[in-house]
Amino acid sequence: MKKIAILGSTGSIGRQTLDVISNYPDLYQVVALSAGENVELLRQQIKRFKPKIVSVKNTVKREELLKNEDLDVEVLTGETGMCLIASLEEVDLVVVSVVGIIGLKPTLAAISSGKTIALANKETLVTAGELVMQTCKQHNVNLLPVDSEHSAIFQCLQGENVSSVSRLILTASGGPFRTAELERLKRVTVKDALRHPNWSMGKKITIDSATMMNKGLEVIEARWLFNIDYEQIEIVVHPQSIIHSMVEFVDGSVKAQLSNPDMRLPIQYALFYPERKYTNYNKIKWGNQMNLSFEPPNFDKFPCLKLAYWAGRAGKTYPTVLNAANEIAVDSFLKNKISFLEIPEIIERVLEKHTPLPAKNFEEIQAADEWARLEANKYISK
Ligand code: MG
Repeated sequence: MKKIAILGSTGSIGRQTLDVISNYPDLYQVVALSAGENVELLRQQIKRFKPKIVSVKNTVKREELLKNEDLDVEVLTGETGMCLIASLEEVDLVVVSVVGIIGLKPTLAAISSGKTIALANKETLVTAGELVMQTCKQHNVNLLPVDSEHSAIFQCLQGENVSSVSRLILTASGGPFRTAELERLKRVTVKDALRHPNWSMGKKITIDSATMMNKGLEVIEARWLFNIDYEQIEIVVHPQSIIHSMVEFVDGSVKAQLSNPDMRLPIQYALFYPERKYTNYNKIKWGNQMNLSFEPPNFDKFPCLKLAYWAGRAGKTYPTVLNAANEIAVDSFLKNKISFLEIPEIIERVLEKHTPLPAKNFEEIQAADEWARLEANKYISK
């Protein structure tokens, strides 16, 4: 029986991970969970999955969790709590499904403790790709992608030699504004942007999908996960979200991974890798008429794509700054402080002002991240 810790258990991926695990009670035991503010759901998860240790955002949330309730669990708090959970001796596999750079330190702690990582937090690789991959190498740790595109590529690469890859083709649904005119984007509300056509996800990633920054972040994520040049990573818009990504090999042959969109599949693939397990999920019905279509991404309508490629190629702490400015901009958009089209504007301004550091260690990355947040907030409050 494998022992698992889930960072971000009350978020979309965390909940679905527990859903997958509950189908295999003999194969996985939940040892530790971390959540942010949703202590109500965490309490239910504690009762159902009986972890030994949990962590919540702060002491206020800790008190809220333990109020009027005799829970048989140790409760830690904050980043320290997450790092402790990520490096618990008895844990075999850590699922990192928190959103944002908050996942970086616990991920590094888990890697340094030799845990297998199922990584759903793309910001970690965007912000500190080189450092994370180097630490994995040092500790001989397997980093298994949970992001559906990267899981698809990872699956296509099984049994292949990485040197025979010519291109990675990341598919993108195009989000809710794929067919919208640029004029329309000026009047986008939070509600419009949260209406994703194919995937039900957390708020941050749903807005990232609407700006297509999500795909930009995934390009940088792919660069580090698969150790491949930006010139070899392409994006194609595929509105049906049936093909989750593709790999083209030097002979021109292309492998793709297909399924109906359901995040439980990439989660499960990471949890049981290299094995596959039966699921009763909704399978593709080949007897029905189905069209799969493809179109090039529109870099002018979605400038976040350009910004991400630019920051990725520029390297150093530029991707860290891209990510931090984006986190602040998205949060401000969700709070109705800025308009939809101001998201890429703010990110671009912050990138322009940045004096990069080499991004070789955690301190440099943290410094760039903090600088970018302050800078982004300055523009927003103006
Ligand atoms: Mg994805």
